This record gives sequence, structure tokens and C-alpha cells, in this order.
Amino acid sequence: MELTEPIDRLKGIGPKKAQKLARLGIHTIYDLLTYFPRTYEDQSRLTPIGSLQAGEKATTAGTVMSIREKVAGTRRLNILTALIGDGTGFLQVSWFNQGFLKKELQPGRRLFVTGRVEYAYGGQGQFAMSQLSSYQVLSEREEPESRLGILPVYAATKSLNQSFFRREMKTLLAAPLPLRGVLPPAVERAYGLMPRRDAFAAIHFPKDAGALAAARKRLAFEELYLIQCGLLLLKKRAREAKRGVRHLASGKLVQQVLARLPFTLTDDQAQVWQEISRDMERPVPMRRLIQGDVGSGKTVLALLALVKTVENGFQGALMAPTEILARQHYDSFQHLLEGMPIRVGFLSGHLTPKQRQEMIARIAAHEVDLVVGTHALIEETVQFASLGLAITDEQHRFGIAQRAALEKKGTLLPDMLVMTATPIPRTMTLTVYGDLDVSQIRHLPPGRQPIRTFVRGTDRRPLIYRYVREQIEQGRQAYVVCPLIEMNEFVEIPSAEEVYEELRHGIFRGIPCGLLHGRMKQQEKEAVMRDFYENRIKLLVATTVIEVGVNVPNASLMVIEHADRFGLAQLHQLRGRIGRGSYRSYCILVSDSRTETAKERLAVMAETADGFRLAEEDLRLRGPGQFFGSMQHGLPDLKVADVLKDMDLLLAARRAAQETLGRQEDLSFVLPVLAVQYKEQFLHITDT
Ligand code: ADP
Ligand code: MG
Repeated sequence: MELTEPIDRLKGIGPKKAQKLARLGIHTIYDLLTYFPRTYEDQSRLTPIGSLQAGEKATTAGTVMSIREKVAGTRRLNILTALIGDGTGFLQVSWFNQGFLKKELQPGRRLFVTGRVEYAYGGQGQFAMSQLSSYQVLSEREEPESRLGILPVYAATKSLNQSFFRREMKTLLAAPLPLRGVLPPAVERAYGLMPRRDAFAAIHFPKDAGALAAARKRLAFEELYLIQCGLLLLKKRAREAKRGVRHLASGKLVQQVLARLPFTLTDDQAQVWQEISRDMERPVPMRRLIQGDVGSGKTVLALLALVKTVENGFQGALMAPTEILARQHYDSFQHLLEGMPIRVGFLSGHLTPKQRQEMIARIAAHEVDLVVGTHALIEETVQFASLGLAITDEQHRFGIAQRAALEKKGTLLPDMLVMTATPIPRTMTLTVYGDLDVSQIRHLPPGRQPIRTFVRGTDRRPLIYRYVREQIEQGRQAYVVCPLIEMNEFVEIPSAEEVYEELRHGIFRGIPCGLLHGRMKQQEKEAVMRDFYENRIKLLVATTVIEVGVNVPNASLMVIEHADRFGLAQLHQLRGRIGRGSYRSYCILVSDSRTETAKERLAVMAETADGFRLAEEDLRLRGPGQFFGSMQHGLPDLKVADVLKDMDLLLAARRAAQETLGRQEDLSFVLPVLAVQYKEQFLHITDT
């Protein structure tokens, strides 16, 4: 049996089950094997009833003494309660709306239960367990000790339940799977790692906490190590490239652009520009990341670098994640470069086929010097005559593979610059950008008005919008941002369309309003955006499509509806759309959410404008799953490792990867593994 075989090759899994599994992303045997438990139910210790502690989760066992059923409350809740005893005390165990269990729980039967223990209401000196996490009825002679262990808990569904997964995993682990080594034996030994097969067995069915920890360590290390090998290979390959582009010291064109800027570079920008220039003037290809908060002024650095490559007779490319953003860069570059001997081109999937072919031909013939575009730039048909520099803006939207695809567009290995506004912790930087040198812009350009942020309930909407209207009447523009609504949600949240209709016929009657959302046609979107730029639309109701990079300095107000539904990092990006001009700007977060986390998160938003601090808070409050889920980071999926908690392991894995690069024997071992397991990210390095 090969790991890559489809899941329906397993006995007992027919087309129906296979379909359901596919919905969970499980297609192959390997997918099932790596469908790791979401958590575990620790039932490794049996506590006598008399020693239970209120407030703690525990596992205990006893004989059913009596059973009672009642219906309570307006919702007619059926409550079934069994009183069990073990000679040391009594415990009430309750089930809700599961009256059918009555038959199974007759007096005399013995139960094995796990749950949170409380003081019983009305039963003197008794305990109760109403949040049962599991129960089992023991057979006649069975000792409760035989049921002790750590149970895996999978992200199960109604039809693919816990027992399904537990059973399948048991079968799978007993089968002779070809679990070939993915770590060089030397690495496995040096870092004291559990063998792979044992690790798979122990992560699904750990004997005890120690075994689980060892299994997790092994599998997390494996993951981090392989990714680090890939990233370091990328870096090494760039370093060793004999065909790098060597730029000369900046000359007339760069000077001319610097002189044309309506501002002088800040100290941070000047510093980063020096770092970029130095890299570009070396024969070794530049691999640099610019990290700088929203509005910190990264675009001008991109432009300077592009002009520098053009000045040296090469072409430059800038790839942005959205059409709107690419357009905006294109427009502003054209404007700044007007009258200079630099031909600027634009390429996106939304040009007509004829326009596109024309642009592709001009790129190939070096009839354009500088090209701004979207993903269309990395399509097969695009070939540059002589690409000297490739830039990706808002890199967090792109994966490693896309970044690498862009650099392959030339005959030489071009210099590479990536820019991101997403502030991420250092661990993440190492994981996502492990192959890059990092430059940071820490301070915003001077003269910015701080954005004042408030959190308000929906009852204040009329007041808020009246204020927005007043501001618009004084010449400003405003954004209203609505969350995306997923089809399968039952909550009642008005869509952007509905809010738009409500506002333009209500408070904003007579004021030009616009609507922008992801499902609109490209031309419609662009028309709306252009109208907003050019101040024909005063109020723009939008979903998060405006998130990245959009620059309208006259817009000084933003109302975010149902703000609790956004991540902090996302709110921060959104808020960065205002406060770009000289007007005092306000951001109003509308939310009725009463959960503590939501309140805390919004309070942090109101209190700080520091993107790094917000990212950390977001991580702390929501946990890495949600944080990264909403962030689009281009990072290969981590199934076991936790980028926050496994910092030490990550550093060890990086060290191991560094050592591997220096040992041909280990490297030959790892390359084919990368080619299989991280095809998408690293195929281009393993195929050469
Ligand atoms: P981001 O880093 O988010 O891409 P931008 O490059 O779009 O930020 O810059 C945000 C705004 O700041 C733009 O309007 C830009 O013209 C302006 N800006 C950039 N650098 C400076 C500077 N040194 N002084 C004043 N304004 C600047
Ligand atoms: Mg930008």
C-alpha cells in the first residue's frame, strides 16, 4: 500500500465515505494518517469519587445506584441523571436531551466517566458531572483501569465521528505502511528524535504525556526542518548564482526621481534605500524583505529600486496582489516618471486578450522598461528580455512558489525585493521569509495626524453616521467596511449591499455613495474605485477588498460594521486606509459583541496604532489558528508545529538544516523528500 493511494483503497471506505472525507481535505492514505488529533482526552488517571475536586476535570468510575429523568425549562430540556457510587462517595452524572440512554444506564451497571466536577445542587456532600466529555458502560467483569489511556479527539463530523476516526487510525497504524525516513539518519540521531513510525503511532494513541510530547517533537521538527532546508537552499542558490545582476552606483535617473518626490525620505527610508542599493550593486542576487507598517512609505523605495535597474539597462517588475493596487502603483509611477525616458507598462488578467498579447510582446522585446501588474506577470507566456529586479508588494498575499516564479522570468537571476506590511513575530519571519535579509521601516513619515479610534455599540449608529455626513459636507470622504458573510452562516448580519442601500436611501440621501465588493466585475470595481479617488464618490461602502494599499488622502473617516468579526491585523490594515492626508482622521468600530475576547481586542485597537503590538495581541487573544487563518501568509501548512510555542524547536530545526546544507550525503537524502512533500513550494529548487 502506497501512501499516495486514494483513501477508498482502504477496506470499509466506499465512495460515500470517501466523498465525506474529501470534504475534510482527506484524499489519500497519507492525508488520513496526518489528520492529527485536534486535542486529547486525558483519561490516564482514575480518581475515586471521594477524592474528586470541584472545578477540576477528572475520570472516575462507579455503579449506577438510581436513575431519574425530568423535563425542565421553557425549552423542554430532558435531563437524565444517574447517581453512581464507588464506596468512597456519590456522583450525579447528567445527560441533556438523551433520554434514550435510560435503557443503557440501568441500576447495577458500571460507568466509566470523564468530565468537569462540580458540587451537586441539592445532593448533600455529593459531586455532579454535567459537562461530560465522555462516558463508557463497563462490561460485567471489566476493571475500570483497563479503559485508562489518552484518547485522541479528531475534528470529526456527524457522520464521520470520533469512533470512526479512532477505528480507522488503529487499522491504518497496524498496516505495513511504507513510512520511509524523511530525515537524514545523522539528524535523527543528533537531535534525539523518536523514529517516524513510532511517532505516528504515538501522536494518535499516546501511552502517556511523555510519549505524546516525544511524538509531537519528532513530527514538528520534521516539518520545520524540511521547510528550513527548502528556504536555505533557495538562499544558497541565490548566493551562488554566477548569473546575478550587478548594478552600478545610482546615477542620474535615480537622482532625478529623488528630486521630483514631493517629500524627502525619512531616516528609516534612507537607511533601507542604502541597504537596497548596496545589495543591488553586488553581483550576488539581492534577496531582501522590507517590513514596514501600513503607510510607512514602502512604495517609493520600490520605485527607486526599479528606476535603478532601468538606469542600468535592465527591466524591472512589480507584482501586486490585486488589480486595484497594481493600477494604483501604475498610475502613481507614470505620474512621477512623466517626461523621463522610462517606459512603464501594465499587465493584468483583465486586459483584453489583444492588449495582453501586445504587452507580453513588448516585455519580451524590451520595449517597456518597467512593468507593474498582478499574478498575470508570472504566467507561462510572460518572458522578460532582461529582468534585473523583481518586486512583490504585500508579500503576505503570495506564496514562496509565486515569489520564485517571478524571479525565473529572466535569463539572469534578478535581484529580488519583497515588501510586506504584515507585522509578524520573529518566529514567523524565520519560517515564512527564512531565505531573505530583512530591512525595517520603523517610523511613519512625519506630519501624519494620528487616527483616533473609538468602539461604539450599534445603538449609536445614527449619531455616528450623522457625524460622517457632516464631515462629508465639509469636503472629506469616508469608508464604511462590512464583514464578508459566509453562505453557511445563520447569524443575521447585513451584507455590504444591504448597508449600502440602507445608507444611501437614508442618512446619506443626496450624497454620492459607492459600493465595492469582491463579486463585482473588474470593470465595475475599477470604475467605483476611480470615482472614489477622484472624489466623485464621497462615501464608499466596501468589504475587505479595500484592505491593501489603497491610497486616498482625502478620506479621513472609516466606520467598520461588526468590527468584532475581523482580526486585529486586518482591522489595522483597514484603518491604514485613513490618516493618509493632513486631516484629522477617525475610525469607529461598531460592535455589540459582549464576549470578553472581542471587547478586549477592540479595546486594544482603540488604544494603539502599533502594528507589531496588535499582531502580538491578536495572536495572544485568538491563538495562532485563527490568526494565521485570516492572514494569507504563503506559508506551507504546518500540521504539527506551532510557530509560536515551538520557537526553540524551530531554531534547532534551522540549525540542523544549516548543517545539512554543508553535508552532501544528507542533502542528497533531503532533496527527493522536499520534491515530494513540498512540491508546490520547492519544486523549482529540487528539479535543478
Ligand atoms: P505603504 O508602506 O503602506 O505602501 P505608501 O508607500 O503607500 O505606504 O506611502 C503612504 C503615503 O505616505 C503615500 O501617500 C506616500 O506618498 C507618503 N510618503 C511616503 N514617504 C514619505 C515621506 N518620506 N514623507 C512624507 N510622505 C511620505
Ligand atoms: Mg503599499
